[in-house]
Amino acid sequence: MTDQRGWGDGTRAVRAGLPEPEKHEPTLPGPVFAAHYHLPGEPTGPYRYGRDENPTWTHLERAIGELEAPGSPDVETAVFASGMAAISAVLFSLLKTGDVAVLPSDGYQSLALLREQLEAYGIEVRTAPTGGDAQLDVLAGARLLWIETPSNPGLDVCDVRRLVKAAHGQGALVAVDNTLATPLGQRPLELGADFSVASGTKGLTGHGDILLGHVACLDADLTAAVRRWRKLAGAIPGPMEAWLAHRSLATLQLRVDRQCENALLLARALADRDEVSGLRHPGLPGDPSHEVAAGQMRRFGSVVSFALADRERAERFLDALRLVDDATSFGGVRSTAERRARWGGDDVPEGFIRFSVGAEDPDDLVADVLRALDAAAG
Ligand SMILES: *Cc1c(COP(=O)(O)O)cnc(C)c1O
Repeated sequence: MTDQRGWGDGTRAVRAGLPEPEKHEPTLPGPVFAAHYHLPGEPTGPYRYGRDENPTWTHLERAIGELEAPGSPDVETAVFASGMAAISAVLFSLLKTGDVAVLPSDGYQSLALLREQLEAYGIEVRTAPTGGDAQLDVLAGARLLWIETPSNPGLDVCDVRRLVKAAHGQGALVAVDNTLATPLGQRPLELGADFSVASGTKGLTGHGDILLGHVACLDADLTAAVRRWRKLAGAIPGPMEAWLAHRSLATLQLRVDRQCENALLLARALADRDEVSGLRHPGLPGDPSHEVAAGQMRRFGSVVSFALADRERAERFLDALRLVDDATSFGGVRSTAERRARWGGDDVPEGFIRFSVGAEDPDDLVADVLRALDAAAG
């Protein structure tokens, strides 16, 4: 393998996972559509059956591994049909009846459903909020600590190195949901985590047109268990999605840099508005998350959250935006925003807005938002 440690993020992103050049072959081979592969005689790998292996996944898995743990000979990645498939693979391949798992109380809203399912299987689930490293108080006897930093949608941050040290000291494994940051924003495996898990539906692929997930890990046995779970559950990505995701990775650094810069500019503009409360972005120097974030993140993410006075004002604001679609999800090149309380799953005020900042020209975007704030006030 070429030594990638010295490369910049842009170089790594455009070259991630490319096979060795071969005369007359494309730079990135197209999607391989195959339910099965020619397999005379002994059924040896690498490609036997489409639920277990696919060369398009292999290229993508190498690419994501190179971003999650640059230059590491040990990193292994498994791609999944969605972020939830990846999260479920870690939880359900690892935890058994009687085990204890610690989950965030303020993380991605489907974690509440996962909690019910884990409890139905006799796994004890404890929860702790993301900010302030409160997980430390509930770690005793745990098999797995699950953290989501920055958290969605509250944008709190916990100290990954500190929590990993405490968890490992007690024999617990640590998984980090790295969806919001992307591997260019932080590299949980380098911070000591056992798993870096993410939804590729968001910033990693960035165009709002595919669902995808992945688990990256440095331990071969843990990865084998995750792959085995994927085979059992059959939660596999289609070859077309995997190929589109790989194609999108080439622009990851361009997209993430632009979107993170735009997010900080927008957050600064919102900070000057009287009607905006509870403004959060880990990149803002005054943000409660900033200090810990600055110690472990390389980019602060494309999401900004804040609240307007009430539901009506938030709805008027969303209606008045022209460059920002009222839609869920985040991390895409087109800005989106939504009133998060409409889903009912998060502990947020009625006027709470989760704003996903896209790659528009910053002046256009900020002007649109300020105009919509004025319109919502009127
Ligand atoms: C969206 C999201 C997920 C779930 O990903 P899907 O691809 O929608 O299954 C998990 N964690 C976080 C933090 C998310 O934002």
